[in-house]
Amino acid sequence: MSKLRLAIVGAGPAGIYAADILLKAERDFDVSIDLFESLPAPYGLVRYGVAPDHPRIKGIINALRDVLDRGDIRIFGNVNFGVDITLDDLKEHYNAVIFATGGQRDAHLNIPGIDAEGSYGAADFVSWYDGHPDVPRSWPLDASSVAVVGNGNVALDVARVLAKHAVDMHVTEIPDNVHDALRDSSVTDVHVFGRRGPTAVKFTPLELRELGEVPNVDMVVYDEDFDYDEAAQAAVKGNKQVMVMDRILQSWRQRPTVNNAPGEAPRRLHLHFFANPVEIRTDDQGRVAGFVYERTASDGAGGVVGTGERREIPVQQVYRAIGYFGSPLEGVPFDERRGVIPNAGGRALVSAESDEQLAGVYATGWIKRGPVGLIGHTKSDAMETITNLIADRDSWWEPTASAEESIPALLAERGVRWTDLDGWHRLDAHELELGEAEGRVRVKVVPREDMVDISRDERTA
Ligand SMILES: Cc1cc2nc3c(=O)[nH]c(=O)nc-3n(C[C@H](O)[C@H](O)[C@H](O)COP(=O)(O)OP(=O)(O)OC[C@H]3O[C@@H](n4cnc5c(N)ncnc54)[C@H](O)[C@@H]3O)c2cc1C
Repeated sequence: MSKLRLAIVGAGPAGIYAADILLKAERDFDVSIDLFESLPAPYGLVRYGVAPDHPRIKGIINALRDVLDRGDIRIFGNVNFGVDITLDDLKEHYNAVIFATGGQRDAHLNIPGIDAEGSYGAADFVSWYDGHPDVPRSWPLDASSVAVVGNGNVALDVARVLAKHAVDMHVTEIPDNVHDALRDSSVTDVHVFGRRGPTAVKFTPLELRELGEVPNVDMVVYDEDFDYDEAAQAAVKGNKQVMVMDRILQSWRQRPTVNNAPGEAPRRLHLHFFANPVEIRTDDQGRVAGFVYERTASDGAGGVVGTGERREIPVQQVYRAIGYFGSPLEGVPFDERRGVIPNAGGRALVSAESDEQLAGVYATGWIKRGPVGLIGHTKSDAMETITNLIADRDSWWEPTASAEESIPALLAERGVRWTDLDGWHRLDAHELELGEAEGRVRVKVVPREDMVDISRDERTA
């Protein structure tokens, strides 16, 4: 075979890195890549997950844009796999497909009251503040006290955005409706709950330290959480990251607000450790009224056990930030338990229970590995998947319609308003221009139709 025609589904970092690595790989065949993306903008969770007040991380977009701008990858944005294009279509037009569709949903937390009014998944809130086109544009920020469940960086993002004053978010790329809602928020207390102790968190030091630097927000930690046993002390001594985070937390114990003593700031951000969620209590109208947790204790081996002691904190909203989860793709095997495409080194398997490879189908990024790890990890992921794809050339599909024009023709026939690289440049320039006018990084265009109209240069007024 002298040419590989490859479809990649998902233009997040995993999909873009996979394309980049394949184009640069040593190989004895030509490659043409079509990148399908359900949104009218690329970059996945870097655009719609990474917090807007993290411009350095958002800056990874520059490296991803350089890959797309090289000009040897065709982009088909606003094309939803499973709706606008199917696996059978891809088999007809390509030699293979790599799915890089990430994770969009929240993992479920199975406790009473989780479906109450005022109980939310972090993914929905993140999508709202990052201006995702497919979520409602308004968010009820009418709670004075909120609970955030989880001890990873997403929990910290959610807690920080809830606690931060809107004036400190204004320079970022948050859409105007998000800024206005944050400005009018009633929040005074944000409580973050983690099941384990301070030495077993999944935060990273930079993100933790940042909490203590949020203007006009007091950090509150509780002395009762810092009575370290031997396993915790060993964790501090044996792991540099844990040591740094312990130092940060210990410094907050020296602040006047320790144990929730009165402070100066109008808002407080509390960290509660050894707190296992038990129930979300509701009022007689079914709205969130309290967060009930069981106090846990160290089991001496780095884990925790329940103590039977229940506590309740009055809150009016709960956000669960306990992990993202992949979504099944039409016609593609899915492991319901792990929320991934079952795979071996990125080679899709016919089912989660089988070792048999599904020819021509590959996975990379969060849909391959599950929703853990940083953007950089998707690069090593892609490397493995591409190596296996190249090695499998004898089992690739044999397409019957491999002309380059056949895909645009198919999409046009189906009435799909797809967007391409020039369209993305147009939308990008438009958003940057809107931002410049207001002294901000960018102002995101949120409604999908507007994004598509601007990309396709089909605005009516
Ligand atoms: C809230 C949050 C904050 C984060 N902050 C950081 C951070 O500060 N630093 C860091 O390094 N990492 C951060 N991460 C992790 C980082 O975002 C992920 O590691 C990375 O985005 C995973 O890349 P991916 O390409 O696998 O998935 P994604 O980024 O999710 O990209 C998947 C793409 O596939 C598209 N897609 C999905 N389904 C379809 C379909 N049916 N048809 C067509 N296209 C489809 C999606 O629209 C999306 O564009 C954060 C994650 C979250 C959730």
